[in-house]
Formats: sequence, C-alpha cells, structure tokens
Amino acid sequence: MKKQKLILIGNGMAGVRTLEELLKLEPELYDITVFGAEPHPNYNRIMLSPVLAGEKQVDEIVLNSREWYAENGITLHTGDPVTAIDRQARQITTASGMQASYDRLLLATGSNPFMIPIPGHDLPGVVGFRDIQDVETMLDSARQYKKAVVIGGGLLGLEAANGLKKNGMDVTVVHLMDILMERQLDKPAAGLLKASLEESGLKFLMEAQTEAILGDQRVTGLRFKDGSELDTDLVVMAVGIRPNMALADAAGLHCERGIVVNDTLQTFDPRIYAVGECVQHRNNTYGLVAPLFEQAKVCANHLAQLGYGRYQGSVTSTKLKVTGIDLFSAGEFNETEGDETLVLQDPAQGVYKKLVIRDNRIKGAVMYGDTMDGSWYFQLLREATDISSFRNTILFGQHDLGDAGHGEETRVGMLSDEAEICGCNGVCKGDIVNAITTQGLFTLDEVRAHTKASASCGSCTGMVEALLASTVGEGYAATPSKKAVCGCTSYSHDEVRKAISELELKSMPELFDRLDWGTPDGCPGCRPALNFYLLAAWPAEYQDDAQSRFINERAHGNIQKDGSYSVVPRMFGGLCSADDLRAIADVADKFEVPEIKVTGGQRIDLFGVKKDQLPAVWKDLSEAGFVSGHAYGKALRTVKTCVGKNWCRFGTQDSTGLGVKLEELTWGSWMPHKFKLAVSGCPRNCAEATIKDLGVVCVDSGYELHIGGNGGIKVRVTDLLCKVESEAEVLEYTGAFIQCYREEAHYLERTAPWVERVSLNYVKQRVVEDEVGRKALYDRFKLSQKFAQVDPWKARAEGAETHEFTPLSIDRMRAAS
Ligand SMILES: Cc1cc2nc3c(=O)[nH]c(=O)nc-3n(C[C@H](O)[C@H](O)[C@H](O)COP(=O)(O)OP(=O)(O)OC[C@H]3O[C@@H](n4cnc5c(N)ncnc54)[C@H](O)[C@@H]3O)c2cc1C
Ligand code: SF4
Ligand code: SF4
Repeated sequence: MKKQKLILIGNGMAGVRTLEELLKLEPELYDITVFGAEPHPNYNRIMLSPVLAGEKQVDEIVLNSREWYAENGITLHTGDPVTAIDRQARQITTASGMQASYDRLLLATGSNPFMIPIPGHDLPGVVGFRDIQDVETMLDSARQYKKAVVIGGGLLGLEAANGLKKNGMDVTVVHLMDILMERQLDKPAAGLLKASLEESGLKFLMEAQTEAILGDQRVTGLRFKDGSELDTDLVVMAVGIRPNMALADAAGLHCERGIVVNDTLQTFDPRIYAVGECVQHRNNTYGLVAPLFEQAKVCANHLAQLGYGRYQGSVTSTKLKVTGIDLFSAGEFNETEGDETLVLQDPAQGVYKKLVIRDNRIKGAVMYGDTMDGSWYFQLLREATDISSFRNTILFGQHDLGDAGHGEETRVGMLSDEAEICGCNGVCKGDIVNAITTQGLFTLDEVRAHTKASASCGSCTGMVEALLASTVGEGYAATPSKKAVCGCTSYSHDEVRKAISELELKSMPELFDRLDWGTPDGCPGCRPALNFYLLAAWPAEYQDDAQSRFINERAHGNIQKDGSYSVVPRMFGGLCSADDLRAIADVADKFEVPEIKVTGGQRIDLFGVKKDQLPAVWKDLSEAGFVSGHAYGKALRTVKTCVGKNWCRFGTQDSTGLGVKLEELTWGSWMPHKFKLAVSGCPRNCAEATIKDLGVVCVDSGYELHIGGNGGIKVRVTDLLCKVESEAEVLEYTGAFIQCYREEAHYLERTAPWVERVSLNYVKQRVVEDEVGRKALYDRFKLSQKFAQVDPWKARAEGAETHEFTPLSIDRMRAAS
C-alpha cells in the first residue's frame, strides 16, 4: 500500500513526541517530513536553563539526533520555516521556496516569547528566553558585559536570572507584582524563595513597571513608571508567551488565543492536527510539557487511525529548576472562602508546605524546601481523593518512617505503583519498576530511553535514581556512562584516565588544575573515582585520600541499618583453624556481639558492633592473625572455594589450596567495584565459580578461567576466557585480568558490564593472546599489591602513622597468630 504523506511543521518537543508515539503504533503508515525553523534537531527546550547556567552543554540536551530521523525514515529540513499552507492544494511552502504536499499535516509551532511593546524593545541587547539562539546571545553578552536585567519574576525569568548570575553577571530581576512567581506561589513560599535567591546574589525590584528601554546602538538602561532609571547592558524579557499561530491563522484555520483543536487534536480542517503550546483546547492553552505530551499521545493515536484516544485537558504542576532550590506547586494554592488550609512551617530548616483543602479534597499545594511528597499530593489532587482518614498526618508526607538513613530510597520505595514520579511525561512508579525489571535496565539513561521518566525537566531524577537503586541494588551504577565523569568536568572517565597517565598527574589538586576542573575540590561524584584512578595509575606514589572514599571504606566496616557495623575478618580461601574460630568466639564474647553469621562468601560476619568498639575489635582480631575481609570496599572481596580433591570424590584439583593462593595474591587490591573470585574443584561447580568476576573451574587436564559473572539482581553467567594447565598460570592470568580491569574499567563498573562493553575478544587479546602484555599486566599488578596489602584494621588499631604504607606480608600475619 502506498504510504500517506505526513508533514510536521515545528521540530520541537510536542511535534516530535507525537511522531515518536506514532512510530510506536504505526511505523509504516506514513512518509514523514519535518520542517523546523531552528537549525537544530529536536532538543529539550526545558534544559536551556541548565545550559545557560553552565550545568549542561547544548549537545547533551539533544533529544533526537539527526541519525534518529534517518533511522526512522523521516526527512528532516532544519533552518527552513514554513511560510504558507495551501489547504486546497494540500501543500506547504517554505522560506527557501521548497514545496511539499501532504495527506495529513501536523502543526506544532510552539509559542513566541511576549516582548512588551515599550520604546526600545527592539534594541540590540534585548532578548527573550526561548531557544538556543537566545541562550547563545545571553552567554555572549555575559562574556562582554557586566549588568543584566530580567523583566519578569516568573519561572522562566528566575531561571534566566540564575543562569546569568552563574555566568558572572550582576543581575536584577524586575517584577510587576509584589511577590515572585505569583501564578505558582503564595506569599510565604514566595518570600522564602526570594530570600534564598537574594542570598545567592540576585537583586530584585518588586512592583516596578518598566516604561522604556534606554539606549542608542544597544541597550544601556531601563526607565520605570515612577521616573527612576537602572543601568544595564542586557535585558531579558520573560513576561510570558504567546501561542505561535500566525501560519495557521493565515491558512484560514480557526484560531482564538491559540489554534483551536478538538479532543482528537484536530483543527477545524480535519486533515490538519495541532499539538503543543500553539494549541487552544477547551479554552485552555498550556506552557509546560506534561500536558503537551498527553496531547501528543492522543494525536498519534488518531493519526494511527486507532481513534480511541481522547484528550480532555490537564491539571499541571510546577517545579523550579534552580540548583539548590526545591519548590513545588500545583492547583489552586491560594485559598478562597470556604477553603481550609493545612500549613507546616519550619523556618530553621527552610521548609514550608501548604495544602488547600475543600470538602476533604486537596485543591492546591505549595511546597518549599522539601518537595519529596509533591507527586503524592498531586496525585491526591488529580484523583480528588478523600483525605479525611489521614488528614492529621498528611503534611508529614506519605511515609513518615524515621528510616535508618536510606532517605529518598526508602521513601520512594514505599510509594504506591500508581504514584506519578515523572510529571512531565506522566510516568508512574509501577511503569518505571516494571521497565527496570523486565527490560533489565541499569542506568538512568536506559530508564529515560525506555520510559521517558526524568527525560524532560529532570526534577524527578533523584526519585528515578532512588527507584533504580532500590530495584536493582548497587548494580545500577555499574553500567558505564559515556558522559562526563560528573558535573565538575566535561571529560569522560576514559579521558580522565588517559590524562592521568599521559600528563603524569599524581595528585588530586594537580588533576583539578591541569584538567580545568569546574569546582575547586571536586564533588562526591568525582572524588571517589579520581582517587581510585590515581591510586591505580601510581600505586607507589599516590597517597590515598580517605576523604574521597565512601563511608564504608572510610570506616572499614559495613554500616548496617541500625547504624552499627558488621565486621568480617578475612579467611583465605574460606579455610580456618580451630584457633581462628576460638579467637573469633572470644571477640564475640568480649564485645557482646549480638549476632554471628556465615556469609555467602564463606566468611564469618560479626553483626552489631558499635562504631566506638571497632578499633578494639580490630586489635584483637589482628593479634589473632586476621586481616580485614574488605567486605565493605570496592576491592577484592572473597575467594570462595569448594573442598576439592582433598576431600571430594569428584575433585580434580586442589581447589581450596588454589583458592588460598589466589586470595594471598589478590587481597587488599582496590578495584573499580567489588570483585569476587571462586574456585570449584570440578564442573559440578559447588563454589558457584561461573557467577563470579573471575571463576576457576578445575578439570582433569587443568583449569578453566571464567570471567565477567555476577550473582546479584541481574545474574550474569561468566564467559570462558581460556584454559590453562598449571596453578602458576592461573595466578598469572588472574593477576593480569584484574590489572586490565583496574586500569581500564570506569569507576563503579563491575566486570560484567565492563566485559560486555569492551568485548570478550578484547579481553582475550589482552590477557590470553598477548603473552608479553599479559606478563607486563601481571607485573604491574604485583607491584601495586606491594603497596596495597596493608591491613587497614591493624593500621588503625595501632596508629595509622606507622603502618599506613608499610606492607604487612602474609608470613608476618601468620607469624603473629
Ligand atoms: C527556558 C525554558 C525552560 C522551560 N522549563 C520548563 C520546565 O521546567 N517544565 C516544563 O514542563 N516546561 C518548561 N518549559 C516549556 C517547554 O519547553 C515547552 O512547553 C515546550 O517546549 C513546548 O513544546 P512545543 O513543541 O509546543 O514548542 P517548541 O518546543 O517551542 O517547538 C516549536 C518549534 O516549532 C518551530 N517553528 C515555529 N514556527 C515554525 C514554522 N513556521 N516552520 C517551522 N518551524 C516552526 C520553532 O522554531 C520551534 O523549534 C520551558 C521553556 C523554556 C524556554
Ligand atoms: S540480599 Fe540481603 S544482604 Fe543483600 S542487599 Fe538484599 S537484604 Fe541486604
Ligand atoms: S565442585 Fe566438584 S570437587 Fe568441588 S565439592 Fe563440588 S563436586 Fe566436589
């Protein structure tokens, strides 16, 4: 069947979202052509604020690359606005003179910033805040000039002001009303917002009406109605938007405040659809993406000739994207006669919450400082839930649990499946969890790609990450990101690692300086990674930075949910003696350890040790010959073994003895992530070697080496790396494999995703085929172990100064016992 022709005018968020939805339903129905006035592919307009603030780059906010259009058979014309629609001939004409005919036409022309028509509004240096071009103009001004004025203290104006201030400008916000964001906030919340913006350096002129923009060649100042003046080099007008309907109007389509559409998003010409900010639906126009995406879904449904979708309008909520400010507002937040209000105010914590209630139903919500429960209140509001049964506690949030430090993770975990997490895209918790578990998602980017959650304004990113963490455990961070290490830099993990070795960077300050880090001391995101990269590159020279380690690594124990610690002494290969057991029992008695448990890695775990007891516990264990089991670290954890041929009738080799040798070789080694080893004495595999980072399976003729396994939430069976004949080779290949992983994986990347990323063939080439390279890797590993095999417990129990960098050999430890 010949495809019908669909033309989209307006390559923005609503239009392209409609195409995405359509392609999901009917990928073959149309020949699609897109015309965009801007020279870019579709990008996330919402993210212009973070781009202006220097928190994101333009290429990071592209939603659909040019390849996406090509892959989906869509013809894209950018930088060529459509200038006319001939409805009779069903043809459009563009500024460059191109003509194209259509069977169906989709208008998504967005809106234009409203420029107040006062004298001087068209001077150079006066801009709106709508597209990449506007942001570039602002950034350019910030480089050349000092003073900026933003007219408009609404959402957009404040985000513009914040961005300009971050670019070093002296910014004044001029606002007509007596409170900021009066369409979203009540007086107390607006007051808190203003105070914290003032603290960050913004200035405000409230109740000021601009009469004229002054200047000759370029803006130089503003004059107000009361006659006063203010100098400025840049004016950003952020006083509202107007639906962009000129093209539709000229084509004779019915327009009022926007292009009028019905519930299937059709205009008065049924061949022509319209979605987005250019639209007027049931007398409403919208300026946020959530309703536009709802429109896109329905419009796609109708374009796909399914016809069961209806758009009935949307209730919207708002968040402000100014880093460090948490603000949420929805519905009718200013009470009128007959309404009741519930207010929680904690000025010391900077928290303010107000709910407007009518007939025991939420009509509106304003929150400042703690917005975690915003989506819950919004859901109650939209569903008109009767709140009388939990009204007494509603302000404390859905989950006033007093949890033991899991914070956001626990709270989001307790939300119902129907709770909306991503307001922009209307994605509920159940959708996200379902996508994570059924599609095997591990990263934020994957969740964004599959569900669209957090893919628009990003305000729900924290909650999506918390869901990832609670659904897949710590493995969620395991997939590498091709993006920058963190917000402090634009360099990727690989680039940073390369720079460390090529520029011989051997300390954190040196690295920050040479790589022009965006923050003077890094952040909790980059410091642990950099600490590991420096340690792995310069084992002899680099001094480990305790402040860059996660709390468990700093405390050398695993914090448990009641705040106590668990202590796991290392037992090489899982072997122990009666004396060892007696020593552990003595420690348990002496310190009244409440629970003792054998771990999955064949170690003994002492639970419930108080923090202040730790050094004394470590001291006794050290004196009995134990070293730390590193059960808390991104480090070699355990070597699990089966009994092997010494005892088992199926055993082919001495798996326990080999496990001990492997653990003696590898203990203490810091890794990009935790690393587990196992040795099974025969293919019956009692030590579960094929779900370990490196597993050895003994066979009659030698040893199979398996790599890249994982036994967590996402189980991954190992790949066979190679077979070797002797124990010495097992040790050499293992050391080489570990070193390759240490030198090349990204921090927080387990071996499973690393092997998948770089490919098994690559690892084989480095560790198996290249003999010289393998030996060099092994040598580097052994060198690094010289400095790594320092028992942190002993060092701590006895005073870190003397022991910090003194290697403690296995012989000495054993001798001490
Ligand atoms: C700085 C900023 C921050 C924002 N923050 C948020 C936020 O936090 N949360 C939120 O929900 N919303 C936010 N928004 C609003 C959100 O970006 C818009 O609601 C959304 O982009 C509108 O989508 P649209 O497709 O209707 O219009 P647009 O995304 O503007 O797309 C319309 C496109 O059509 C093109 N066009 C117009 N006329 C023609 C023509 N004749 N021929 C060809 N092309 C044409 C335009 O150039 C434009 O590229 C923000 C907007 C801005 C500017
Ligand atoms: S499997 Fe057990 S120990 Fe591991 S994270 Fe879950 S509850 Fe905690
Ligand atoms: S893996 Fe083989 S050798 Fe080891 S305990 Fe099991 S059956 Fe015995």
